[in-house]
Formats: sequence, structure tokens, C-alpha cells
Amino acid sequence: MENEHVYALVSEEEKREIEEVANNYVEFLSNNKTERECVEYFVEALKERGFKEEEKDKGFFIYKNKFLACWRMGSKALTEGLRIIVSHIDTPRLDLKLHPLFEDMDLTFLKTHYYGGIKKYHWVAMPLALHGVVVKKDGTLIKIVLGEREEDPVFTICDLLPHLSRKKQEDKKLAEAIPAENLNILFGGIPLEKKGKGKKEEKDRVKKRILKLLKEHYDIDEADFVSAEIFAVPAGRARFVGLDKAFVGGYGQDDRVCSFASFEAFLAVERPHYTTLVLFMDREEIGSEGNTSAKSRIFERLIYQLIKAQHLSPTPDIFFEIMHHTKALSADVTAGIDPNYLEVHDKLNDAKVGYGVVISRYTGHGGKYMANEAHAEYVSYLRDIFDKAGVVYQVCSMGKVDEGGGGTVSKYFASYGMDIVDIGPPLLSMHSPFEILHKGDLFMTYKAFKVFLET
Ligand code: MN
Ligand code: MN
Repeated sequence: MENEHVYALVSEEEKREIEEVANNYVEFLSNNKTERECVEYFVEALKERGFKEEEKDKGFFIYKNKFLACWRMGSKALTEGLRIIVSHIDTPRLDLKLHPLFEDMDLTFLKTHYYGGIKKYHWVAMPLALHGVVVKKDGTLIKIVLGEREEDPVFTICDLLPHLSRKKQEDKKLAEAIPAENLNILFGGIPLEKKGKGKKEEKDRVKKRILKLLKEHYDIDEADFVSAEIFAVPAGRARFVGLDKAFVGGYGQDDRVCSFASFEAFLAVERPHYTTLVLFMDREEIGSEGNTSAKSRIFERLIYQLIKAQHLSPTPDIFFEIMHHTKALSADVTAGIDPNYLEVHDKLNDAKVGYGVVISRYTGHGGKYMANEAHAEYVSYLRDIFDKAGVVYQVCSMGKVDEGGGGTVSKYFASYGMDIVDIGPPLLSMHSPFEILHKGDLFMTYKAFKVFLET
């Protein structure tokens, strides 16, 4: 069995499509860096195309501004099942702590608490932007995006110079070299003017001036940070990478590449046979906890809403009947083989970059712990529809068995009885501030999702 490179199999016409999809994707990735921003972007695009909130045939449903579902009724009855694609729109990042602001040596910093699986050394000595919201006590929501425009300042976490870091960093394990409590963002350095000569030295004058600026520009007090969600993310746009521009490099491609591709595929399939439902989940990176996550029961509530809209009785019988006939894709990225670290990969079973979208039959770790494994029958179904449509794909696992592993949302959806499998493009530098995706794999991900929704 020999796989082939995407570029050896696509037509000239498809090569043009690859460029178009990649350009749109770079734009999307550059402008949407948080789950709230993604929800807002998708909702805007849905409204432009005539979708209405909770409308039965062409609708969408938002929960807490962080979870989004959109659907299109098919020509077949709901009880014949759905075609679902679920991805996640949260990404590893640095959250500001609840009481973030402090001053030391006339420098003001913001303390952070990392979210998701990061390598801490990735986050120092690079430009960062702040994205998020502050909700004041009266309910006023203030949006913040600072560090993305040319005229904005950026922020950074300072690293120790090599001249002084031998014992502190070089002699330590990589994971211990930069403690989480040192991930403090440099936020200001100009002290508040003293009031009159000979006055007693005031404490924390830089911090006081920063607080004054926050009040002037955003109407935020120091206490408002406790009801804020502000994330530090890598500043700047996604870019093409390589002399031949083979790759897209950028932050948050896990899993915004699948969110983007599933959304575009959803829009493209205007008259589906089966009802199509595309879901964008939150909190995947920390184990799907909380009421906007895959572990919450928001999905059940949504299905019952769809059942009621079709004038069916909202009973568990109907719910499980629908689930039994439902086919789903857990759209998420996987690791591409990095030739510089072949020792962690199984060349025969891992995903090759540029060889198309990856069906990951199971994830988990060790002896398939915590894994949802797709049944042979379901993988056979997908092979058939993908082959017929000319989707370039590979069926893989991730890494050598004892090297590590990971999980996705698929197991939570599988618990309802639907068939579901993990699928998405392979990435290099996954979970880093600059993840790498092959644009051929991006296109085949989009194509696979489209074929799945229209079949
Ligand atoms: Mn993911
Ligand atoms: Mn992830």
C-alpha cells in the first residue's frame, strides 16, 4: 500500500483551489485568535447568508458566546440521522491571573496562568498581543484586542540572558527551566509624575500610571480584572512558510484549521440529503470541562430543540434513534512526522505532511486508554466516499505507542451512540506559537468535510 503526495494527485484546477482556500484561511487565522472571536466571525458570516438564530431549517445556536452550532435541514427526516462535524475553537494560551498587575524595580508586569498544553520556553522573548473581554460590575462588556495593529504596542515575557542563566536554566530539565510563575508580561515602565518637590516618595508609581491609562482608555479599574477574560497570544498575522510557500505558519491552527474547513464545507453544501450540523466547542484543550465544552450537555439540549422544531415528540427514544443513525467527524489536527525527531514516530503508521487529511482511528495513550476507536465498518464507509470523490487521505495513529498521546472530543460524542472518528490535517510544531500546516493538507481537509456533508 503506497500513499501519494497531494500535489502528485491534484489537477491544475484543484491547484488553483488550494491557493484560494489557503489565502482565505490565512486571513481567518490572522483575525480570530480566541473562541469568542471565532464565534463572532462565524455568526456574522451565517447572518450574511440568511441563517437565523434558532431557525429550524437554516439556523444557528450560540451558548455563552463560546459555543456555536449551525445547521441546515436535509431532504431526509431527522430520524434518519445527522451528518455532524465537531471541532474546537479554544487554543493553548496565557490567561491573565485574577489579580495580575504588580510592580517591581519600577517595571510593571501582568501575571499569567497558562491554559492547555504549552511548552513554557516557547512563550518568552516574543511579541504578544492581548485579546479578551472585561465585564464591569454593571454588566458592561469591554472588548480588548491590543497588539495586532501596526500602531499598537505589543507585550512580551522577558527571558534571562545566556550570560547569567547557566545554573538557572541550562543545567535544568526543559520543563523546569522556566517556571510558570515567571511567565509575567512586561506591561509598563513610566512612573506617575510626583506631585510637587520634596514630597514623600510614592510607592508603585509605574503601576499607578498604568492604572490611570487603563481607566482613560478602557474605563477599567484594577478590581475589574477578576471578572475579565484576557489572554496573551502570539502577536501578528499568519504567514506562508517556505520558498515555495508550501505551508501556512501561525498560532492556533489546532484546531482552527478544522473549524475553518468545516465551516467552509458547511456553507458549500447548500442542499444536503441528511441534516448537517457543524459544532464549535470550547475547553477542549483542558479536557472538555465546563458548560461550553463537549462534556457539557449542551449538545443534547440542541438536538432536543431540533427535534421539537420538526414537530416530533422530544423523547429519549427519538433522541437515541437519531443518534443511532448519525455519522460524525471529530475534526481535529494530528502530529505530522517530523524527520528531525523520527525516534518518536512509527513511520509506517504516522501521518506524513503533504499526504492529505488524516483519519485517526483512535487517539488515547498506552494501551488505547481514554480512546474512542472508530469501528471498521465506519472507516470502510469513509474510505469509499473519499475514494469516489478523489479526497487524498491517510489512515494513521499518532506516535510510537509508549511515547505519549492525547485525546479529543470524539469519546464524548461516541457515548450517545453515533459513529464518530477523528480526522484532520497533520501539523508540525503542534501546540507551539507558530504551528505549521501544509496547504495541500488544508485543501484535502476541506474537501473531505464537504464530501462527508453532502453524501
Ligand atoms: Mn485539537
Ligand atoms: Mn490541542
